[in-house]
Amino acid sequence: MRQIDHMIAGGVRLPSARRGDVFNPNTGAVQAQVALGDKEVLEAAVAAALAAQPKWAATNPQRRARVMFNFKALVEKHMDELAHMLSSEHGKVIADSKGDIQRGLEVVEFACGIPHVLKGEYTQGAGPGIDVYSMRQPIGIGAGITPFNFPGMIPLWMGAVAVACGNAFILKPSERDPSVPNRLAELMLEAGAPEGIFQVVHGDKEMVDAILDHPAIGAVSFVGSSDIAHYVYQRGVAAGKRVQAMGGAKNHGIVMPDADLDQVVNDLCGAAFGSAGERCMALPVVVPVGYETAEALKAKLIPAIHALKVGVSTDAEAHYGPVVTAAHKAKIEDWIQTCANEGGEIIIDGRGFTLQGHEQGFFIGPTLIDHVTPKMSSYHNEIFGPVLQMVRAPDFETALALPSKHQYGNGVAIFTRNGHAAREFAARVNVGMVGINVPIPVPVAYHTFGGWKRSAFGDTNQHGMEGVKFWTKVKTITARWPDGGANGLGSDGANAFVIPTMG
Ligand code: NAD
Repeated sequence: MRQIDHMIAGGVRLPSARRGDVFNPNTGAVQAQVALGDKEVLEAAVAAALAAQPKWAATNPQRRARVMFNFKALVEKHMDELAHMLSSEHGKVIADSKGDIQRGLEVVEFACGIPHVLKGEYTQGAGPGIDVYSMRQPIGIGAGITPFNFPGMIPLWMGAVAVACGNAFILKPSERDPSVPNRLAELMLEAGAPEGIFQVVHGDKEMVDAILDHPAIGAVSFVGSSDIAHYVYQRGVAAGKRVQAMGGAKNHGIVMPDADLDQVVNDLCGAAFGSAGERCMALPVVVPVGYETAEALKAKLIPAIHALKVGVSTDAEAHYGPVVTAAHKAKIEDWIQTCANEGGEIIIDGRGFTLQGHEQGFFIGPTLIDHVTPKMSSYHNEIFGPVLQMVRAPDFETALALPSKHQYGNGVAIFTRNGHAAREFAARVNVGMVGINVPIPVPVAYHTFGGWKRSAFGDTNQHGMEGVKFWTKVKTITARWPDGGANGLGSDGANAFVIPTMG
């Protein structure tokens, strides 16, 4: 059986007695075992990080950026290998795996510009003979804890910016698809990052707790489900760390009566069912405004959903592949049943779907449920599968209130031809990322990613300038240089230790 180990100090192998199974969701078989590390493993990673980080921080930013350029080229060179590795553990189709890695690479491209964004601010003459300037310095050691659903992109959201800023970064990826993170660590070394600067420790809650409690780790970036995000946020902050913790989502797509329904149906098929719905920016709730819109949309959605092909990840024709584990499949199917029990009308039922030749794979067919209401627990909670719930709204205000009042506030989209409605919606909706005729409004790397409400704890987003702020501390220097004149202390004879008055 293939064994997946920690990537410490460039490949030191540390044994871990505890191991977790890594499945191939296409076949249902265990394909590897991953080490589940503990405090001692983390200690080794922290020691390597402490040894390497000061020199890395003192390396000029342009040289650090060159490592990022090299890394980008290496990831591109190995794109096929990485995408197949990713698909075999996650289950998403190869095109989606390439997209996963590509979105991460865009953050690496942003990190290539780190010399520019690390430039500080300067005020000449803030007081008599006084200049004030600020600089951004790395935190020191930062950690990233990531979910299963984007094992390429999310480690790079965090790691690329953290490393480019001069930190040592320790990644604790999901134990369900741990191979791509290890490979990224190898490529980072090959690109020229010193040993100890980008390391991977594997594990579960035990390793997460060790990270949260470790005094040498100054910042923790987490992405995963909301209850765990909240826990990580509270425990990390209590230990005096800087923490950003992104959580779950239940994104709504509002369909106005004037929307282009063919385009909406096409967008929904991608956004609700693509990657088997296992995306935090998926659109699992559609809100048609008005009875006629709902009926027309449903009539177009049904044949489009029936036409979706579910297949193995390597099937280039497949729209989406299996979900990540048998346990997750069971949970999704339970939610479908709960929704039906609560009064939802199942229009298309994906339960019981089997793929010939892959009967043990973790497949679920696309599911459409109509007449879902805000009172239902299946609406309130994240299902994270290929399930589209339709919540009908009589008017714009009701539609606007649905995502605004929902416990999650990651993303939302409105489909309309009316600029005024779109503008009102974008301004008033209580959600962090908004799409206007864009179903999955994931911001580009030089903007910033982050939701509101229970979709994010902490106040700094991922990547863009927010990422740079998260991975650095600002130091502000107020300087006065005596003129070295006759009395040697400055011509006014002022005592350099008295706080000067400015303004
Ligand atoms: P998860 O919360 O189960 O796991 C995330 C990380 O936390 C993993 O590294 C895991 O090992 C660790 N973990 C699991 N249980 C833990 C515990 N009890 N204590 C401490 N750590 C623990 O999430 P997942 O199932 O891997 O990923 C799916 C979730 O992530 C969904 O809720 C999805 O919406 C969310 N997500 C959010 C974003 C975002 O940016 N908001 C992006 C991607 C995914």
